[in-house]
Amino acid sequence: MTPVQREARTFLSQFHRRPFTVSDLEKALQEQGFSLVEYSRISNGKEVTTLLTSLRLFDYAARQSAFTYQDPHLRIVFMQENLSQQEQIILLSHELGHILCRHLDRSPATGPGSSVLQEQEANEFASILLRYNRRCRPRRIALWGGIGIAVAAALVVLILCIFPASSSQTVYLTESGRCYHRQDCQYVIGKDNTVTVTEQQAKDSGYDACTWCFDHSSS
Ligand SMILES: [Zn+2]
Ligand SMILES: [Zn+2]
Repeated sequence: MTPVQREARTFLSQFHRRPFTVSDLEKALQEQGFSLVEYSRISNGKEVTTLLTSLRLFDYAARQSAFTYQDPHLRIVFMQENLSQQEQIILLSHELGHILCRHLDRSPATGPGSSVLQEQEANEFASILLRYNRRCRPRRIALWGGIGIAVAAALVVLILCIFPASSSQTVYLTESGRCYHRQDCQYVIGKDNTVTVTEQQAKDSGYDACTWCFDHSSS
């Protein structure tokens, strides 16, 4: 078992087969000494603006939907406001992965400050958590049908934190589809609102391989 898998199992062991929620993630962050601050990418109140300015994190906030900051006095997870529960779960699971894998010991902030390996670890941690939550939900199809677009949106923001892309194959999601595609698929070409994620993340989020492009172009 890798250290990432061990951290994920330890986190999940407290839930005894019930799905975990946003507040469970918040509690886990608090146990590590982090508080959650929500921000807007458009305009913020005075307090948040002052905080972002003094920590020189304005660019982070403008580009990312979530990131974590740590210095000797402050430990904060920043997250964009007005996101769905599922989007918050995806983002906070990823940031919790950075924290529990001790990435903040080496750089003050996640996102542009993280290495490729650290992003892969945080993604792996989040993937294990998301798979666990999906297994806990017996009526997965109905649920995912209803929030499919929200999940696609969440994946858009998630990949903003994955920089550069992790090693596994990149696949494409379309706004309304339930499948993931190759770059040259007829359903992807010419569409400018597609989302790229790794194949593993697409699978973990409930997408299936498109039969058209995966059957036709495998040689
Ligand atoms: Zn990250
Ligand atoms: Zn396809």
